[in-house]
Amino acid sequence: MNVYDSDRMTDLLAPLGYGAIDSPLDADMVILNTCHIREKAAEKVFSELGRLRDIKEQKAAAGKKMILAVAGCVAQAEGEEIIRRAPYVDMIFGPQTYHRLPEMVARASRQTKTVLDTDFPIESKFDHLPDSTHVEGSTAFLTVQEGCDKFCTFCVVPYTRGAEFSRPAADVLSEATTLAGAGAREITLLGQNVNAYHGKASGGGEWNLGRLIRGVADISGIDRIRYMTSYPAEVDDALIAAHRDVPELMPFLHLPVQSGSDRILSAMNRRHNAGQYRELVTRLRSARPDIGLSSDFIIGFPGETDEDFEDTLALIREIGFIQAFSFKYSPRPGTPAASLPGQVEEQVKSARLAVLQNLVEEQQADFNQSCVGKVLPVLLEQPGRHGGQLIGRSPYMQVVHVTAPNENLGMIRSLHIDSSRSYSLSGTLIDDAGMSETSAPMRRISV
Ligand code: SAH
Repeated sequence: MNVYDSDRMTDLLAPLGYGAIDSPLDADMVILNTCHIREKAAEKVFSELGRLRDIKEQKAAAGKKMILAVAGCVAQAEGEEIIRRAPYVDMIFGPQTYHRLPEMVARASRQTKTVLDTDFPIESKFDHLPDSTHVEGSTAFLTVQEGCDKFCTFCVVPYTRGAEFSRPAADVLSEATTLAGAGAREITLLGQNVNAYHGKASGGGEWNLGRLIRGVADISGIDRIRYMTSYPAEVDDALIAAHRDVPELMPFLHLPVQSGSDRILSAMNRRHNAGQYRELVTRLRSARPDIGLSSDFIIGFPGETDEDFEDTLALIREIGFIQAFSFKYSPRPGTPAASLPGQVEEQVKSARLAVLQNLVEEQQADFNQSCVGKVLPVLLEQPGRHGGQLIGRSPYMQVVHVTAPNENLGMIRSLHIDSSRSYSLSGTLIDDAGMSETSAPMRRISV
């Protein structure tokens, strides 16, 4: 979502004459769009600021001004701390106020005091933003939902992004249509709890995520839809039915379980236990048998024993996750879990993390290997590093390399998968006249 937000900031600044460039050395303004989810990400901001201060001072010595800004969730949560530790920062604003950027820039140009804007405004920033046109490699992100009301005991999101908010369905469809016009063939619908989506429908009532997916699928030019990130307890029948009925909805789902231990899940205030998660996966698989699953895991949550960790490994094997993001538990200021007894030692967390990541890597490699010899529809997104090579994605998010002419970029082509590695596949273009995304032969994949 920070990628989406950064693109929108670029749009807002364009009328003021700003455009994105690669290096801070040539920049008139630098915005750090930050993440507060783990301590490491938040600390990185302060080391980066030190580096940028040097650049700002060099520029000032040469008579040039550089506006330095901190945006995003670190700004939201630690605005005052940033002013204290880095008073040379010109603007600090949170994820819900960046639509006021033009006015903040005007104020920052006039005054030397830091401009701080970390409200949760009544108005939605989306009402002030034009539709996004940011398409990269024929794919685009589209925020449909933001914030969280679930209050998992480890998580800062409800405090930084704010309460759950869904954009009206018509606004989402309009932006998706604009993105399709700008060349997007694949759209990823975004939200901190994207499946909590319940946007106002034009004709009255509300649309859930399943309904919204059907609406986006009807837009001409959109061939692939993904969504992230989902909260398991809120996967409803309409969403499962969309996986059964909507061919554009890709058979790959990121569904964070966090732990396989009921004791830990309950201490996390998750509203599912391991059994309910298993049952949910069974329902998803009966709707879409070839669905690939991925998850987030938190390792070393306070009180996690070896036995709890074993439960997590058992769940990973049983579900057969083909990908995962895993993190050592990071105590976040102000969250209930930060002050729980039984904080797990760093060494133990690292050792468990390594075991878990090895297991997931093995499963990922096995899944990739199981695709060899098959034909997969691949959206060719960008040129590869070697001449004549293109890189694309399979329906299951696997990276696929192929030697093919550039005119295939932006197209979904059927590739015969010749070989696999831990993180990618290689394929050959086949003559696929008449073959579509949905009719490509695909056998049920089990890991
Ligand atoms: N809302 C979704 C997923 C949120 S994505 C859900 O709850 O299912 C953010 C991911 O960051 C989480 O899934 C979690 O794995 C990770 N995360 C959040 N807080 C964390 C913390 N304090 N320490 C380590 N990882 C954390």
